[in-house]
Amino acid sequence: MADTMIHKALAVLSQFYGYKSFYPLQRQVIHHVLAGGDALVLMPTGGGKSLCFQIPALISPGCAIVVTPLLALMKDQVDALQANGIPAAAVNSQQTEVQNREVVEQVYAGRIKLLYISPERLLTELDSWSADMRISLIAIDEAHCISQWGHDFRPEYTRLNVLKKRFPTVPVVALTATADRLTRTDILTQLGISGAKMFVSSFDRPNIRLAVETGLSGKQKLAHITRFIERHPGESGIIYCLRRKNTEDMAASLCRLGFNAKAFHAGMTTAAKLRVQREFINDDTPIICATIAFGMGIDKSNVRWVIHSNMPRNIEGYYQEIGRAGRDGAPAEALMFYNYNDMVTLQHFAMESGQSDINLEKLRRMQQFAEAGVCRRRILLNYFNEAFDHDCHNCDVCSSPPERIDGSKLAQMALSAIKRTHEQVGASMVVDILRASRKAELVQAGYDRLRTYGVGRALSFAEWNAYMLQMLQLGLFDVAYDDAHHLRITPFGEEVLYGRATVQFTRWQPRQLKAAKKKAVGGTAAAQHDTNRQLFELLCQTRADLAHRQGVPPSVVFSDKVLHIMAAELPVTSEQFGRLYGVGEYKAQRYWQPFTRVIAEWKARHHGQLL
Ligand code: ADP
Ligand code: ZN
Repeated sequence: MADTMIHKALAVLSQFYGYKSFYPLQRQVIHHVLAGGDALVLMPTGGGKSLCFQIPALISPGCAIVVTPLLALMKDQVDALQANGIPAAAVNSQQTEVQNREVVEQVYAGRIKLLYISPERLLTELDSWSADMRISLIAIDEAHCISQWGHDFRPEYTRLNVLKKRFPTVPVVALTATADRLTRTDILTQLGISGAKMFVSSFDRPNIRLAVETGLSGKQKLAHITRFIERHPGESGIIYCLRRKNTEDMAASLCRLGFNAKAFHAGMTTAAKLRVQREFINDDTPIICATIAFGMGIDKSNVRWVIHSNMPRNIEGYYQEIGRAGRDGAPAEALMFYNYNDMVTLQHFAMESGQSDINLEKLRRMQQFAEAGVCRRRILLNYFNEAFDHDCHNCDVCSSPPERIDGSKLAQMALSAIKRTHEQVGASMVVDILRASRKAELVQAGYDRLRTYGVGRALSFAEWNAYMLQMLQLGLFDVAYDDAHHLRITPFGEEVLYGRATVQFTRWQPRQLKAAKKKAVGGTAAAQHDTNRQLFELLCQTRADLAHRQGVPPSVVFSDKVLHIMAAELPVTSEQFGRLYGVGEYKAQRYWQPFTRVIAEWKARHHGQLL
């Protein structure tokens, strides 16, 4: 019995989605739900939550009700299902009442397998639904919204407790990507499904490469970001900035350099925000410079990179934001910048926040991640209480482990400069003194006559910035937040200054540049990669044309991952095309011609260059 059920599920997976195997826990959830059980599913973004209810919905008689709070996402989800030949529809305020009534009629007639609806709308609809409505299961997406403990509480969700009472035998599946222990049990209580089975998958996102770059000034950062984007031509990405103004400046700078970038922040009008979101989803504007407000209502599978232009306040926020990259499972990159100023600003924020103890502790954990001497993924997952006991080989620390050096001499230079200025300077002035800057402010104060003036000129600005940060962390000096951020030497700092104690630093190294160089000497493999890249871009163009004609986002036609596989496997017949990963029967029939035509032409042109 169980076997036939899973066989059916696998057949549906292949027929409608073109996938050959389940992601972790999907099989177990599907099995449990098909057997009539309630479930709470916790999976990270991109973990494959949707299939956990879509497949049972396709196999069971009747229609599944999918409750989701984000109106903007509803249409994309329904479009994506329809694009796979699955009869799905939505009832919501964006459609006319005539359209909505038609949809309900179709549900009664058994012609819809999945009905998407907002919680408030469902509760009003329920009264008019008769017992003839055959409901296969109820899925509650973004289920953390039901809990006051969660970070996105929505009062209308709490009224969903009527569902289990009204449909006691219909399985309820609650799904979320964010739920601590308290929220988890609260979800079950609130929905009246305390007997539900919990499925918690790993929160690891192995396809996202993690990297942190320390010590760069604003200008150097922009140069770095520019180079980074150049290495990702045509790909979509998000740059998170600390403040609204930074998002605008960053977008303007990138546009001046010839990139297609736009800003997004909470200060914009709703219409402007929606427009930017749409352009991003449709691949019309590939780069968004945003405050954290961006991303909530966005279900875009091909975000290829996320840059944090400043260090985030805590690991929760960081992880949620980088999680917007690589939802399609193809390789993605998360790059974070972190310098002395960030640290000072964030400490200031944390101290002035209502809960300074908690926020300072969270910031300290974030900082440990940024300064990591061991695999970054280990730090992240351990933070979320997940035992992760091996190196990931997909972070900058794994690929070039940091080198420890004796930092005592360097620390003495900096501490001595602080001492000789009578602790009347901030970190940037210390670095200027050490590097023999001719800034007017420095010369006027007579700091160019100090003994320490210029003793550190062998090191770059970035190196000094990074080491000042390490000194702050090691507790060699404090920052006087109430006195222009001037530095105060601590007792431990005195010990180091007078040679009674030593300190170790992590050697500063520009990681990203090293990685870029390595890639450049790839030889024939690189040439092959380039030709595939050209084909990939042609396939993207074909996808964009088709998507445009159908009025859907490009990712609804095919994800980037599918196009990459297409560019590698080069199918030219409908059979070959239909066997590709991510190509279900419906899409095979609909799309094999335009795509295989492009591939065949390209093959003819590049005859000699292929293996
Ligand atoms: P979530 O809702 O958990 O963020 P989705 O359900 O949107 O994740 O799935 C993320 C991506 O992974 C989608 O592009 C989806 O089609 C794909 N996916 C889901 N399950 C599988 C699978 N078993 N095999 C391959 N791809 C899958
Ligand atoms: Zn690692």
